[in-house]
Amino acid sequence: MPPAPPVFRFAPSPNGRLHLGHALSALTNEALARRFGGRLLLRIEDIDITRCRPEFVEGIEEDLAWLGIRFEPGHRRQSAHFDDYAGALAALRQRGLVYPCFCSRQEIRNAVGAREAATGQPWPVDPDGAPLYPGLCKRLDPDDAARRIAAGEPHVLRLDMAAAIAALRQPLRYAVFDEGDVRHSVPVAPERWGDVVLARKDVPTSYHLAVTVDDALQGVTHVVRGRDLEAATDVHVLLQHLLGLPTPLYHFHHLLLDDDGQKLAKSRDSRSLADLRAGGIGAEEIRRQLGFA
Ligand code: GLU
Repeated sequence: MPPAPPVFRFAPSPNGRLHLGHALSALTNEALARRFGGRLLLRIEDIDITRCRPEFVEGIEEDLAWLGIRFEPGHRRQSAHFDDYAGALAALRQRGLVYPCFCSRQEIRNAVGAREAATGQPWPVDPDGAPLYPGLCKRLDPDDAARRIAAGEPHVLRLDMAAAIAALRQPLRYAVFDEGDVRHSVPVAPERWGDVVLARKDVPTSYHLAVTVDDALQGVTHVVRGRDLEAATDVHVLLQHLLGLPTPLYHFHHLLLDDDGQKLAKSRDSRSLADLRAGGIGAEEIRRQLGFA
């Protein structure tokens, strides 16, 4: 039997229209999938029910079709698969690697401020610049926590990072591949993220958990994503090992920067592909501009 083809995916979140940075990511996936004879999936990462909207899903599909990128039919939508993430979460809870946390952002900020004042040292931040969770709820009495949950108090579920790393007993690595399929192995340091959230207050999962579970369920072998997600990959590789899931190969593409040298982002009002199209730019021109003529 011939070996199964590699599987690639582009996984945007429908919380706005796609911009040039998304086009770069989608086109890089397309180019590498073609080069390696792979399948190309589109996954809609719509767990954020407060920000994701159906019209943005339609917009994504329209923009990608306009760019001429063809995905396999049957786009997975994360919001239809909360059960899958719940299953993974239950497995981690059973191993005692997850704990409930009732802290508000303000409580975390206050605790961090108090510790900085007491020690005179800056409190460590994660690779995205957020303070590491100071562990306030980590030692809560389990009966107490259960009572608060039963009373409906909003809470997140956090990974006990130290316990998770200890459970694996070995340093983890993953492989990065390039256009020529040259691979090199890199070590992971998930501890720099602290006790990450695995289920949010408003949603029964998190980006880290959903992306890890879906890549495995969809048989993704090659993850192509921007360099802004390179550090987060450490958490994903850790979760893969904890859940007994395979680790894909990874490729991190460069990011497009705006005139101020900042990453293009929907939240910063970068021009959308829809705006560019309405302004008369053709898909071929976008491909050429991004180096995919
Ligand atoms: N959904 C994520 C985003 O739009 C990216 C998915 C991934 O590559 O992990 O930023």
